[in-house]
Amino acid sequence: MQPVTLDGKGTLDDISFVISAVLPLFRFEEQKTQINQPIVQVPKYVFNSARQQYRSDRLLSWLEQTLKLSNNIKLVALCNFDAYFGNYNFCFGHAIIGGSVAAVYLQRLLPHSYTDGDDRLRDLFQNRLIKEVVHELGHTFGLRHCFRNSCVMHKSKSINDTDNKNEKFCNICSNSFGLHPKSLDHSRKHNAGYCRNNSVRPIMINTE
Ligand SMILES: [Zn+2]
Ligand SMILES: [Zn+2]
Repeated sequence: MQPVTLDGKGTLDDISFVISAVLPLFRFEEQKTQINQPIVQVPKYVFNSARQQYRSDRLLSWLEQTLKLSNNIKLVALCNFDAYFGNYNFCFGHAIIGGSVAAVYLQRLLPHSYTDGDDRLRDLFQNRLIKEVVHELGHTFGLRHCFRNSCVMHKSKSINDTDNKNEKFCNICSNSFGLHPKSLDHSRKHNAGYCRNNSVRPIMINTE
């Protein structure tokens, strides 16, 4: 987990709840997960000043180049700002299918009337964040969007879609992901081959 906290605005004091929720779903081992020190500055070209939004595609590329992650590492950036990519107005999250980096943008996950001390709204926010992190991590492991609207891999066009889905994978997604390691190996190999071809841009997908 990589907090990206710009302009001195903290959104999360403690993100260990995300790790606790994600560990069992991906069968990660606790000792192998970590929360990095926050990144507090990104290059200027990541920001689109005309739109007053950050460019998610550029952020992911920059993170990948800067952090030089080894093949078996998956990194999720938890970002305290709004971002977009391509023709979208915004994105809740973004990942490269089969890649090593993903980002979740917290601003639009915050309930409108959120104030400190409101447990119900804090739970709602945390729930949304967990779903988005699981969704993006799912993409980094090769999963694509799922047509079942209760599945965490269902595409969220609005925050209602996020609220209506579960934080878990449906049977089909979990079968193709965790329960049949061979199919996961296959998707990894496939994506590794794809990414080696530098003339082809990585597939960017979004979670709106
Ligand atoms: Zn599914
Ligand atoms: Zn998605």
